[in-house]
Amino acid sequence: MTAGYRIEGIILFSKPLGEKDRVLTVLTPDRGLVRLSVRGGRSTGSRLAALALPFSRVRLDAWRGKSLDGLRGGEVLDAHRCLREDPGTIAHSFCIAEIVGRLAQEGEADRALYLLVVTAFRLLEVADPDLVMAFFLVRSTKVAGLFPLLDACRGCGGPIDGGFLSFEDGSISCPGCPPGPPPGHNMTAEMVSLARRLRDLHPRDVPDLSPSPGALVQLRNLLLDYLEYHLGRSVNSRRFLDILA
Ligand SMILES: [Zn+2]
Repeated sequence: MTAGYRIEGIILFSKPLGEKDRVLTVLTPDRGLVRLSVRGGRSTGSRLAALALPFSRVRLDAWRGKSLDGLRGGEVLDAHRCLREDPGTIAHSFCIAEIVGRLAQEGEADRALYLLVVTAFRLLEVADPDLVMAFFLVRSTKVAGLFPLLDACRGCGGPIDGGFLSFEDGSISCPGCPPGPPPGHNMTAEMVSLARRLRDLHPRDVPDLSPSPGALVQLRNLLLDYLEYHLGRSVNSRRFLDILA
């Protein structure tokens, strides 16, 4: 037997590799992103294919390869079947996976990001997917050190009920003060207060929130624009969020 190792993680992507195989991208708490080939992973009857389903939480045994390591075996810890099959959540699962794939790095541990994805995928099974998406976007910007400074106006330092969010420096300004550098977007009082609540609350309280659907979608779109600005590229799967909802 060749040398190997064991990982626990969440499968973000499972893509075809040649005629018969697949390649997995797994988010782990200790090694960041790990890529593994799955021999015979494209045939539905294969034992390894059953371990290669996107959005499931798994424990995997891997062998070391020259350019790409490979899947040897393992077990599914949390199948999260409805994240792949329920039309109301599938777009949200893909969008979260795409953003995480951009934020995480190969070989760089990020336990906070891993725990956030575990939490978001669990919440998608029980809560409004748009609410979970907004929660994920708020918390992922926080984990990445990008969350906007929403507690006080950048000009006068006064309390904020709504105002202009500058994407560049993540500051907000009240209507009476000069705005921060463009680009940016206006936030209503409801969007600001919802973003603060999602930043601070315990994840178990997320399903109990009932913001207005308008503010929720506005906040989600604003945070997607904000993240795209900081990532320097677009989040392709966001266009499916409204089509499939
Ligand atoms: Zn001000």
